[in-house]
This record gives sequence, C-alpha cells and structure tokens, in this order.
Amino acid sequence: MTKSFASSADLADKEQTLEVIGDGVYALTAEGDPNVGAIEGEDFLVCIEAMATPVAARGWLDRLRAHTDKPVRYLVLSHYHAVRVLGASAFGADVIIAHDNTRALIAERGMADWASELGRMPRLFHDPASIPGLTWPTATFSERLTIQLGGDRGDLVLAHLGRGHTEGDIVAWLPGQRILFAGDLVEAQAALYTGDAFHSDWAGRTLDAVAELGARALVGGRGAVARGPDAVTAAVGQTRDFLRTMLAEVGAVHAAGGTLKEAYQAAYSALSPRYGRWPIFEHCMPFNVSRLWDELSGIERPVIWTAERDREVWDQLQE
Ligand SMILES: [Zn+2]
Repeated sequence: MTKSFASSADLADKEQTLEVIGDGVYALTAEGDPNVGAIEGEDFLVCIEAMATPVAARGWLDRLRAHTDKPVRYLVLSHYHAVRVLGASAFGADVIIAHDNTRALIAERGMADWASELGRMPRLFHDPASIPGLTWPTATFSERLTIQLGGDRGDLVLAHLGRGHTEGDIVAWLPGQRILFAGDLVEAQAALYTGDAFHSDWAGRTLDAVAELGARALVGGRGAVARGPDAVTAAVGQTRDFLRTMLAEVGAVHAAGGTLKEAYQAAYSALSPRYGRWPIFEHCMPFNVSRLWDELSGIERPVIWTAERDREVWDQLQE
C-alpha cells in the first residue's frame, strides 16, 4: 500500500482547546497540531509561537481576547519552522524575539522550509496567500534573555539550552509559577520531528537542562499540556526514549555498514509499537532517519529540506 506523502492527506480539522494553566498563562492545544501560548505582563502580552498563517493566528487571538485585551508587546518564536512563524504579522507585536541561529536559519533556508512545510502539512496553512513573506525576528540572543513582566508578575526567562530540534531552539520559562513552554524540544504524546535535529545533543545535555528546570507544568510543541511533576517527567522521558531508540537502531545499522533503507525499517519497527499511533509519526519517520543517518555520517548541519528533496526521500523510504 502506498502511503500519502507526509501529512498531505490529513485534512480533518483538529479540536482546539484554550487552557488557563496559571495566573495569566494560556496555552492553545489541538490534538497534536502545533501548540501556541500567551503570558500576561502587567500591561502587555507575550505570545509564544505564531502559527502557520496570519489567518490561522487570528483564530487563536480571537479566543485569547475573551481572557485579556492587553496589547501584544513581544512575540517569541521557539525556532524557525514555518508552521510556527509565518503567522507573525497577525500579532502586531512590537518585538519579535528568537535565537541568533534562528534568524540565520531563516536567512539561509526560510524560503525552502516554507515550501517544504506547505507541501507536507497543507491543512495548517489556512489561507496561505495571507502570509506577507518570511518572518524576521527583530531581537535575537545567544544564551538567555529576561523579560520583566511588570507589577508583581515576575520574570519570563528565555533560554537556549543547547542544540536539539534545531540549532536555535529556545524555551520560555516562568520561574515564579514553574511553567515551561518547551517548543518542539519536548512533545507530549505526539511523535518527534527530527529532520533538522542534533540527535545526540538533544537526547543528552539539552534534555538534561530541560529536566533540571523542575517545571510543574510544561507546554510542549505538540500534544496535551503536561500538568504536575510526574506528567512533566513523563513527557521529557518519552522525548528522550524516542531519540535514544532512533540513535540505537539507526546507529547499529550505520555501524554495520547497512543501508539507509535498512536503518529506516529498523527504527520504524522499534518505535511503532509505542509511538506508531501518535500524531505525525508516519509523516516524520523518513525525514527523521535521513537526518540521523547524515548526523552519524559526520554531516554537521542538517541538509536543507526542499519540496523536491522531501519527495525524493519519501519515495525512497516510505512505501
Ligand atoms: Zn519544529
């Protein structure tokens, strides 16, 4: 049986749920579609992630407006992927914040990534013609940036904890309420996308640094909000197990002089009993194994995905 390319046949809308997860802290989850969030300052809002298009983002902002009418001062982008950034113009933010490497990645591969993600996940791109162009961060940093929320609302700490899902991931951490927005560094009952990842760093010190924060609630890139220390530990643990299984399976085939296709089959067989039913598993696996194979072959930075390369890798592996 031939499987439909990536998520191109996934066209049924997901149920979006707005959750209040702390005092003035909001998350919109959507059954495995990319999550977004917002944090109230004293007299402004910080929004986390921008969705795939301005039209998609407006739906989220309309729901948020039932809770707060504060203006959006900051829009924080956890990384460069198109489905997280191209809706930015809807927010009217004064400042768009990302990691230094995210800005460089948008310059290097933003256009290619836009075409790639539109082809892979067309459902997320509500009215793609509403996208005015690439999203350019207007403030970037390398290690850490603190936003004072004003009044008695404490600080929001933005931090780069190491390479992981991309080479420019940042997390948003509320130390007072111990709430973490982890971007795609952590998924909760959704498959990982690792096509632009640094698997060894991610599975090791980067996830160690995430765990060391000691969050009481965690909003991952996809999936439900993890509430309570046990759920947070489970989400981080699932993410690490997915990566370690890939590293073990693909690594064994690579070390034995096998082929990319054999590595794909080994990783698929090992992961599918636990993760095969989770959102975007089938979509992600060919791209994931292709990138890990390159990483194990000493290719330091992920090769740029284009709409054409996506199809070639898919046809080679996913049949
Ligand atoms: Zn991503």
